[in-house]
Amino acid sequence: MNICVYGAASNQIAPIFLEQTEQLGEALAGRGHTLVFGAGGNGVMGAVARGAAKAGGEIVGIVPNFFPDGVLSPACTDIRRTETMRERKQMMEDVSDAFIMAPGGVGTLDEFFEILTLRQLDRHQKPIAIFNVDGVFDGLLQALSRLHEEKFIGNTGITAFSAFSDVEELLTYLEENA
Ligand code: AMP
Repeated sequence: MNICVYGAASNQIAPIFLEQTEQLGEALAGRGHTLVFGAGGNGVMGAVARGAAKAGGEIVGIVPNFFPDGVLSPACTDIRRTETMRERKQMMEDVSDAFIMAPGGVGTLDEFFEILTLRQLDRHQKPIAIFNVDGVFDGLLQALSRLHEEKFIGNTGITAFSAFSDVEELLTYLEENA
């Protein structure tokens, strides 16, 4: 499968996030999957790609033209370019069979919510997982659960994703639901 990982561009994060997302990349490629990601060489993006490279995986980086080559991960085995950030999100969606939100900031959350909204609207049926390293998404998961209880989010929206702290369980979920 082609598995898209969304994750932080920032390098200022604690080592646990880099270590665990590197393990995610390694396990993903070790199970024979191709990594699709935002091509960045820093932060969580860089860590996932380093992990996938360790396991000898295919690594597809999708990046808008305005990003300088210097920020790209040297681990990419294939770089695809788009004009805009929106086209990039579209290409990531089109080429991927499953999606993972790893720890990240605004860009990562934007990507997650877009892919979740599209699933809710039946624009695709691909599985979505959250990699909840060190409980970093606990607050977000609580907020989503409350919004579901209050019926702002319907059953389709809340059941369209699952959160995991274990890499192998996460990958099994995607494989079984793709
Ligand atoms: P953030 O979570 O705000 O760090 O944004 C990271 C997410 O947004 C990644 O999944 C990328 O697809 C995209 N993105 C934002 N900034 C960058 C960057 N400097 N290099 C590559 N991708 C980026």
